[in-house]
Amino acid sequence: MSHHSHGSEPLVRLPDGTVKQVSPLTGTVVWTVPGRGRRPIATRQDARVRLEPDEAGRLCSFCEERYLDTPPEKARLVLADDGPRVVEHVPAPALFDTVAELRRVPNLYEILSVEYWRANHGYTPPPDVLARATAYTADPVGRAHVLDMLGRRAADTGLATVWATEPEVERLSQAVDLFAGSHDVVVARRHVVEGARYLDELAAAGTLTPDEHERYLAFTVDAMRSLYASQPSARYVAVFQNWLRPAGASFDHLHKQLVAIDEYGPQTERELARLAVEPDVYTTAILDHAAAHKLVVAENAHAVAVAGVGHRYPALEVYSCSDRHLPWDHSAAELRGFSDLLHALHAATGSDVPTNEEWHYRPPAAVEPMPWHVVLKWRVSTLAGFEGGTKINVNTIDPFTLRDRTVAALQRLRDAGKVARMALGDECSHELGVLRYAD
Ligand SMILES: [Zn+2]
Repeated sequence: MSHHSHGSEPLVRLPDGTVKQVSPLTGTVVWTVPGRGRRPIATRQDARVRLEPDEAGRLCSFCEERYLDTPPEKARLVLADDGPRVVEHVPAPALFDTVAELRRVPNLYEILSVEYWRANHGYTPPPDVLARATAYTADPVGRAHVLDMLGRRAADTGLATVWATEPEVERLSQAVDLFAGSHDVVVARRHVVEGARYLDELAAAGTLTPDEHERYLAFTVDAMRSLYASQPSARYVAVFQNWLRPAGASFDHLHKQLVAIDEYGPQTERELARLAVEPDVYTTAILDHAAAHKLVVAENAHAVAVAGVGHRYPALEVYSCSDRHLPWDHSAAELRGFSDLLHALHAATGSDVPTNEEWHYRPPAAVEPMPWHVVLKWRVSTLAGFEGGTKINVNTIDPFTLRDRTVAALQRLRDAGKVARMALGDECSHELGVLRYAD
């Protein structure tokens, strides 16, 4: 065995137990050294904080008693007697008339502002957006809400003093930007689980029921399609979920973000370039490789979950087996199958582990086939000088350990009825060629 390189083999275990990985897609190099993986992964260590019974609905700006703490809502999902229903553009005075199971609201602190699209792409808000802004601010509650939001944004950008001296009509002229943005947040209803007595009993993705998680996923997919429709210069909509502060979340309240951008970004570009010459790379280099090495964690009729190879953080991946590429082209059954596996991975991870959930899919204008897949990264280590200097990442949990640990947790969860029925670990088919995206 060469000590300089392992050729194209992405996963090698050395005689001492060290596992060396190379990502088949990005070339990221990761080593797992024996003995370091037994360290506990949850980072919580503070004393527990008691929660007063009336606090649970107003712990942060995303909470259900604080609907006016986010910019004007684009859509909400309510549970009516005849089933779930999506209501768009609820006027300010009616916000508290229904309970939103899920909300889609603009991010007040956008990565790319409306001004970015205006200045660089000649974007002008269309008549329906202008009409919405006018109608919302015609009502005194709506007007006060919008002025409050714009004031908070001005304060954050250091313009509070200028803002305060401007006449109201001048300040309201910026209102349309709160309705025309293309960086949205999808917020789940609960901050803490039902009946929580402590602040750390957070309502994470894995504490939802499989039905709730399916609605959360489908609502996010709708939001994604809607952003492509509303921002004509968007070439890609990035979708992600940061869970807990070490993973970049501003609030410990479950939410996903969707950000329209005007290019694909280097990661997607690299994957598309690879797919152009090797369209079945996800089948051969990832799924078939995972089956051969027994890294498959779970599967159902529509999706497969594996322990990922070559990630700087321990990472679980879910792949859609559909021949459809875009999430919103998936059938309801395919979305449900995908949701069930993703939900199960979150439940197995546990709500006290900081995670990034990253969505990957074919940009709508790209021709290369790509399967919809989501990577769930456990943010349990911090990159340090060794990584910076060598580009060798030291990861504390190798894919085999990650697979075993996740399958064991899933078996307990399945027995307890907390996750949907699915094949786990050795029960999985380990069939080759299960992805149909390149058919
Ligand atoms: Zn909250």
